[in-house]
Amino acid sequence: MEGGSRIAGQLEEAARACARDGGTLTELRRLVLRLILEAEGPLTAYQLLDRLKQTRKGAVPPTIYRALDFLLARRLIHKVESLNAFVPCIEPAQHGHQAQFLICRACGAVTELEDHAVTEALTRATARHEFQPVNALIEVTGICAACAQAGKAEPEAAPSPGA
Ligand SMILES: [Zn+2]
Ligand SMILES: [Zn+2]
Repeated sequence: MEGGSRIAGQLEEAARACARDGGTLTELRRLVLRLILEAEGPLTAYQLLDRLKQTRKGAVPPTIYRALDFLLARRLIHKVESLNAFVPCIEPAQHGHQAQFLICRACGAVTELEDHAVTEALTRATARHEFQPVNALIEVTGICAACAQAGKAEPEAAPSPGA
């Protein structure tokens, strides 16, 4: 599918999800979400602000932070803590899910895992400790398949058995 119409569809879906929650995907929030959906990779708040200023001259940091808070609260986007940057959620219909990310150290690509078994295992493990998790974000750093294939970064040599 063509990128523009795919993003338009995602924005419509996001607007409907917000309406179901009693929230409104205002023009500004929609604009910020569009920037995140269109981005090649994770964007920091300041990168978003720079892009936003191309259409909204008067945008200031609180403008972007308020919009990001709204989008984060509805899990339309996630914050990658280690990069202090934002990515779209790959399955925003799954309200309240915890996110797991694979972060490539060579190219910076961030991939959200869609493996609910990880979340379930974590839920069981925290329950065993009678711990009530608020945020169970998992960020795995390493080398993505494309970079590994391109030989961009050699994985550290695994210790040979018996060494
Ligand atoms: Zn997600
Ligand atoms: Zn990579």
